[in-house]
Amino acid sequence: MIEMKDVWKAYPNNMKAINGISIRIEKGEFVYVVGPSGAGKSTFIKLMYREEKPTKGDIVIDNINLAKLKEKAIPKLRRKMGVVFQDFKLLPTLTVFENVAFALEVIEENPNVIKRKVMDVLEIVNLKNKARSLPDELSGGEQQRVAIARAVVNSPEVLIADEPTGNLDPDTAWEIMDILDDINHRGTTVIMATHNKDIVNTIKKRVIAIESGRVVRDEARGSYGYEA
Ligand code: ADP
Ligand code: ADP
Repeated sequence: MIEMKDVWKAYPNNMKAINGISIRIEKGEFVYVVGPSGAGKSTFIKLMYREEKPTKGDIVIDNINLAKLKEKAIPKLRRKMGVVFQDFKLLPTLTVFENVAFALEVIEENPNVIKRKVMDVLEIVNLKNKARSLPDELSGGEQQRVAIARAVVNSPEVLIADEPTGNLDPDTAWEIMDILDDINHRGTTVIMATHNKDIVNTIKKRVIAIESGRVVRDEARGSYGYEA
């Protein structure tokens, strides 16, 4: 369902971040993206949700070629994918409910439908009792759970997570991992860039390792493969 064919990305400063990547990710897979800092993991992920455009090559998601996608078609693509970041990126003046509802309000979903979908997804991340809280009243792990709820409230086919446990202590990181695993088991493809060696080596999934903008390893039930 996601295919990259000989994808290259150079930034305007001529930094060559991705140097000829071809991969295929099937619907329902869980994929870790690993590699040293500066290897190109974030760029790889940004190409998938069309935050960056490839310099060369094709990226096809559900028959949509991102390299050819018009700007006005981006919102439709984004409805197919949810994105979660290391630093949560919640809107600080909105409650938990409102942060999660935001994406549905933008598409003018019916208010009763919004309420049901938001409460359903807050139940999945176990935060129904914090619906009225503001982000700064929550722990880091709770904030990341809100961000995950927001990312999946539209029932996207793909959830993309760029170091989602990077700012969290080990116990909290495991909680987040349980939720991502649960979301994957409900049918969503999950692609997660991570430096968390313990998680990758314990909850075995496909591992794609990137170094200097190339795939150097791609293993079903792989391991982290780096120190720390
Ligand atoms: P990783 O996520 O593995 O740390 P990145 O994809 O962030 O790697 O970065 C890959 C390379 O591209 C690095 O050398 C980085 O400095 C460079 N880079 C990333 N983003 C930009 C940008 N917006 N402009 C220029 N260079 C960038
Ligand atoms: P309860 O009645 O037990 O508070 P509800 O399901 O009515 O449970 O609502 C749960 C939470 O969601 C409450 O905090 C409520 O204020 C909030 N909420 C419900 N609908 C909206 C909405 N449209 N916008 C913002 N917050 C809402």
